[in-house]
Amino acid sequence: MIPGGRLVVLGKQGAGKGTQCVRLSHHYVIPHISTGDMLRGEIKAGTALGLEAKRHMDEGDLIPDEVVLSMVAKRLDQDDTRTRGFVLDGFPRTVAQAEGLDDLLRPAVLDLSINIVVPTQLVLRRLASRRICEDCGTIYSTVAPPRVGWICDVCGGEVVHREDDTEAAIHRRLDLYEQETAPLISWYRRAGTLVSVSGVGSPDAVSDRLVAAIDDHRRAGGFGPPLPAGEAGAGEGDRDDLAGR
Ligand code: AMP
Repeated sequence: MIPGGRLVVLGKQGAGKGTQCVRLSHHYVIPHISTGDMLRGEIKAGTALGLEAKRHMDEGDLIPDEVVLSMVAKRLDQDDTRTRGFVLDGFPRTVAQAEGLDDLLRPAVLDLSINIVVPTQLVLRRLASRRICEDCGTIYSTVAPPRVGWICDVCGGEVVHREDDTEAAIHRRLDLYEQETAPLISWYRRAGTLVSVSGVGSPDAVSDRLVAAIDDHRRAGGFGPPLPAGEAGAGEGDRDDLAGR
């Protein structure tokens, strides 16, 4: 059986987190949780949360920590994440969110946070050419478009330029990344759960590096122990699965 894992993927906008998290999710058979995709889903569904989120997202600003944390808390409480783990994409983005995540997981712990490192010049080029499926969030670019027109290969949805991929919003997001998210790198380094991986190169080359880093960390015993019997966070049926990790 393929062992699960509790993973966080960090990196600037355009570092390739979305693309790589989908690949890691398939490779390790773990749910991919993208807070950006969840928020875009709320906007599409026209919910109150979506209306609030859109105001912040259009400006390139962050959604308030408590709003994102309560959305993630609901998702982490579902069976698939409790039994298989997860790969978190775009969350946490602030130290307060990272602390909140630790609280949500307790008594379990995060196994690994992976920082995908890409020079700013390259992310600016990638963001300018990035396109996304409005329905399922699959990421394309003008260099690697869908097979037929701008119709998603995966779900048939329309592939568009993200509304918040304007030049002003991109610069705002990169500034916020430096102020709010970059401090998480030393935060996770101090916790002993950080690895950095270069995000330069083809998606296949980056995936190979990520899988090698995760597997090395697991072999070195860096993955947390299984949940203790009887603790919150794992049902009876989950325990064998977690023990096998
Ligand atoms: P992403 O798809 O990860 O680039 O996220 C798109 C936008 O959603 C961001 O620019 C933020 O406005 C918002 N967002 C996504 N995740 C978070 C988060 N963890 N905390 C705050 N805002 C977020």
